[in-house]
Amino acid sequence: MPENLHKLFVISSPSGGGKTSLINKLFEDSRSLDFEKSISDTTRQKRQGDVEGIDYYFLSEKDFKEKIQKEEYVEYATVFKNFYGTSKREIKKKFKNSNLVLELDWQGAYAVKKLYDDAQLIFLVPPSLKDLKKRLISRNLDSPESIEKRLSEAKKEISKSEKYDFLVLNDDFEKALEDLSLILFERISAFDYDSRVSKDLIKRLVE
Ligand code: 5GP
Repeated sequence: MPENLHKLFVISSPSGGGKTSLINKLFEDSRSLDFEKSISDTTRQKRQGDVEGIDYYFLSEKDFKEKIQKEEYVEYATVFKNFYGTSKREIKKKFKNSNLVLELDWQGAYAVKKLYDDAQLIFLVPPSLKDLKKRLISRNLDSPESIEKRLSEAKKEISKSEKYDFLVLNDDFEKALEDLSLILFERISAFDYDSRVSKDLIKRLVE
């Protein structure tokens, strides 16, 4: 495990779980000055508003596979039939001098935790599947079929949240932001963190 004084935070949520807007808001906080966001490679198509090098590095499948072969990834996974990966170069470049935030699915989070056992895994839990569906519809990026697929995938993802250090209820933007600030900037420990996510809620969401 690399020697590093900085901390690594992985944030996951089901698709449409609102993590991108929360993370963007966190980075507007002056306390985020010693934080960097890891930018992943992906083979998925650019969505409206996606910017190369800011949201992702968009790669062809051929180039992504070549990088897999050359062992250039810390971790990679297939999500909704597209490849997503965190490159070793990206981590090396950004983690040396800053704390690092990675926005990954559960497969990536588990892989990162294996490599950096000090990594803090944060899962944003929606208050209900109905709420998640509403968000997926309102962001207007997915077809009705894709929304259904994302919802069924969401159940699986939420079932993986048990291994995370922090379960943050995302029922209200400001409250979730406050919790994330406590975790990232105030460094509250998982032990002291008063999660509003109950075992019952998780059970209901994955049923
Ligand atoms: P989206 O296409 O909606 O931006 O992302 C789809 C999913 O892929 C999200 O759950 C996101 O967190 C995850 N993801 C993004 N980058 C990576 C990565 O580098 N590795 C892994 N394992 N998942 C990623």
